[in-house]
Amino acid sequence: MTVLPPAVSVEDLHKRFGTNEVLRGISVEAQRGEVISVLGPSGSGKSTLLRCINLLEIPDQGTLRVAGEEVLMKRNRKGEYQPADRRQVERIRSRLAMVFQQFNLWSHMTILENVVEAPIHVLKIDKKEAMERAKHYLAKVGIGDKYGAYPIQLSGGQQQRAAIARALAMEPEVILFDEPTSALDPELVGEVLQVIRALAEEGRTMIVVTHEMGFAREVSSRVIFIDQGVICEDGTPTEVFDNPKSERFKSFTAAMM
Ligand code: ADP
Ligand code: MG
Repeated sequence: MTVLPPAVSVEDLHKRFGTNEVLRGISVEAQRGEVISVLGPSGSGKSTLLRCINLLEIPDQGTLRVAGEEVLMKRNRKGEYQPADRRQVERIRSRLAMVFQQFNLWSHMTILENVVEAPIHVLKIDKKEAMERAKHYLAKVGIGDKYGAYPIQLSGGQQQRAAIARALAMEPEVILFDEPTSALDPELVGEVLQVIRALAEEGRTMIVVTHEMGFAREVSSRVIFIDQGVICEDGTPTEVFDNPKSERFKSFTAAMM
């Protein structure tokens, strides 16, 4: 039997901004089909972790592998860590999709144009096929009737679902979500969580930064809690929520009540 490598693995990741060491030795693996919820207070390094995985930020130290392929790094003359191979970075980035808190849809493009943009220009797939793919995923997230609309004409929940369709259209190995419901009015949170939940049930690999404790408990296979750039909890939802090891997690959840 061949054992597939983890969809994503990071080992001993460090990231500094000036003198501020934001990630201080993070190691985490997402197996295929796993949904990892990342919890932690504001400023603890959650977004930085996702941005390092996606190579939107370059870590200062550590190893990143996507589907078993290690991102090759080298040190420049100043001793700074840098990707050794730009084309590898582009290839790896195209296997990871990110969904942001603020949706980040292009406002001057229709919903359909938003979804076909990267498949056509990054993956270089045929325009007609990209359109079909986009329509498929827009229908899947429940906004199959909004192809021609501009983002501003949609509710926040619909815009975020369009952003999820845009991520799906890349047919990525892993989807990274950075607080996908934090910018939404409370009554729109549920429809977006429902879409993410359905993707989890399909067996997609996802890393979800969230403050939605119910979602983390019910949908994720694993929960990690980051505080001050260090993982303080890592386990199944039951292990972490019912039997936390750290005082920090206990005070974090107490403050959320
Ligand atoms: P979280 O997502 O958990 O709220 P972030 O990863 O956004 O935390 O930020 C962690 C820390 O890193 C914060 O102190 C933040 O100010 C700092 N930080 C994040 N991005 C940058 C950047 N590009 N330049 C300087 N500091 C940054
Ligand atoms: Mg953040």
